[in-house]
Amino acid sequence: MKHIIFPAFITIALFACSKKNNKTSTPEIPSTVTATVPEVYKKIYGATSITSDGTYITIKSKGLPDHTSPYYATTNSLYENFSGTTFAGATFSKNPNSISEKTYTFKIPLDPKVAVSHQATPLGPIGVSLNGVPFFNQYAGPNQPLTNEIVSFDKYWGHPAPGGMYHYHVEPLFLTTVKASKSALLGYLLDGFPVYGPEEFGVAVDESKLDIYHGHTNPTTEYPNGIYHYHITNKDPYINGNGYYGTPGTISQ
Ligand SMILES: [Zn+2]
Ligand SMILES: [Zn+2]
Repeated sequence: MKHIIFPAFITIALFACSKKNNKTSTPEIPSTVTATVPEVYKKIYGATSITSDGTYITIKSKGLPDHTSPYYATTNSLYENFSGTTFAGATFSKNPNSISEKTYTFKIPLDPKVAVSHQATPLGPIGVSLNGVPFFNQYAGPNQPLTNEIVSFDKYWGHPAPGGMYHYHVEPLFLTTVKASKSALLGYLLDGFPVYGPEEFGVAVDESKLDIYHGHTNPTTEYPNGIYHYHITNKDPYINGNGYYGTPGTISQ
């Protein structure tokens, strides 16, 4: 299956398979991909399209989680009531927002490079995860820690912002425990560098060995020759540390 080439702009019909809880099933693919898009980006199965102009990879998504959440409308089949504890044992307290569809366009460098001066990450989307949901940074507001937001993370550790923008500040648990694994590629930040889970080839990542951007250079399954990559861990700053390692592309919504 790996070697199928998708002709430019052919739309592949999405077919509904019941494979939500089957890690070994054929990976889903975005509905539209161009032939020049490297295989690895096709792992972003929640994208509605992935294209390449040779310099940037453009990933479009609706930002709707493909898992249950108490933040979906009760009429949505993915609505699920929540009670109990969430991230770090916090007692769940639902925020007043609900999930709504977005029109994200993430434009990320195809050939990411370390930046000369490292930009801080903004509030709002800083990257895209495999299911098309954006990653957010470690702040709830300008320099405000997530402390008071953590209680509103649902069972897969995401929540919506005012305006309905669903996002992950921490490990996207649906991806690390249902769709992929703790060692898996989980998405990309806007600078084009990949984001991996809290383990590397099945071994917990030692946070003290990560740099101030929350990454390091090592071989990975997808990049056997080695690449700089971020690791998500369960301690602040969770996904990304002191800004982007590379030069970010753009996000429009
Ligand atoms: Zn948030
Ligand atoms: Zn690593």
